[in-house]
Amino acid sequence: MKALFPKNLISCWNQAITQSAAIVLATHVNPDGDAMGALTGLGAFLRQQGYRVTCVCPSPYPDFLGFLDPGKDILVYTCHKEKVLKAVDKADIVVAVDVSGLSRMEELGSALSESRAFKVLMDHHTDPVTEDFDLVFSTTRVSSSCELIFRLLHAWKPKAVFSKEQATAFLTGIITDTNQFANSVYPETFHAASIMHLWGADSETIFSQVYQNFTLNRMHLMGYALQNIRILPQFGAAYIVLTRDVLEAFDYQNGDTESFVNFPLAIKGINVSAFFLQRKDHIKVSLRSKGAIAVNGIARQFFNGGGHYNASAGKMEDAPEKIEGLLKEALGTVIA
Ligand code: 5GP
Ligand code: MN
Repeated sequence: MKALFPKNLISCWNQAITQSAAIVLATHVNPDGDAMGALTGLGAFLRQQGYRVTCVCPSPYPDFLGFLDPGKDILVYTCHKEKVLKAVDKADIVVAVDVSGLSRMEELGSALSESRAFKVLMDHHTDPVTEDFDLVFSTTRVSSSCELIFRLLHAWKPKAVFSKEQATAFLTGIITDTNQFANSVYPETFHAASIMHLWGADSETIFSQVYQNFTLNRMHLMGYALQNIRILPQFGAAYIVLTRDVLEAFDYQNGDTESFVNFPLAIKGINVSAFFLQRKDHIKVSLRSKGAIAVNGIARQFFNGGGHYNASAGKMEDAPEKIEGLLKEALGTVIA
């Protein structure tokens, strides 16, 4: 596989980790398949090398990703604060995965930033917050953090052996972050996925756990979302709003609306999609686009967020009634 990073960065990593024993791996709030794959794949690999590894999520992960954590080893900060803080205190190295800076880890991020540990970033988002870290492995020229980390591990230990579980974890991140090999796919992505298969990665398990593991309520919620797509023809855009009363009616569980934002893009002539999910104290906003329409600028400017060119997110504090007006204003800045 092609090297992603110069040799001096790998040497720097090697030097830091050679002097270390305890490692904390952490990722973003509401972890997705890439975050969980990176955390568990890298965690298992480093344990195999003899390190003491603690994997931490700032908030719980959705049930359908539980197959990546069969031993329930991941510590969720909101449930096990004391344990997490103890591990952070003892850590020689902290590695943040699938997140561009410590602020997307909320309270856990503040604890990490105060830690004396050597801090490393392994991520594929734009605009890494380099000042948060001592060593940064970041590029957007990959499908996912899982691809980046898998290739980084190859460069670090060319003769390394990967277990079936590790390969499956890394492949989960590629499959979910690319929307099943549809977006952000590079030749090296297929190459990495192929090598993961050679190590025994089980794509059937990934597909059945991630895409065939829904409750009937979730399917009905999906039906409601599809029935309630609103079109903004002047922008070639469409959006979906799910308010709390609707979510409650369908017994919403964390992760149930994963990938709903992609539905409107299946409509002919729709090039931008927005998805609004009302949470307790804010509305989570997800944006997706096709081709040359950038959504990360509007995520930053209008929704206090950011992300990739064609896939971004943020939040809004206003009431749901304000959604359409704000969305139109935002779209007006990128679509004539
Ligand atoms: P999603 O819609 O899947 O939650 O997020 C899409 C992408 O937007 C993520 O991969 C991430 O790059 C970015 N993103 C999500 N939430 C935030 C946020 O709060 N701030 C920033 N800067 N980016 C975000
Ligand atoms: Mn990712």
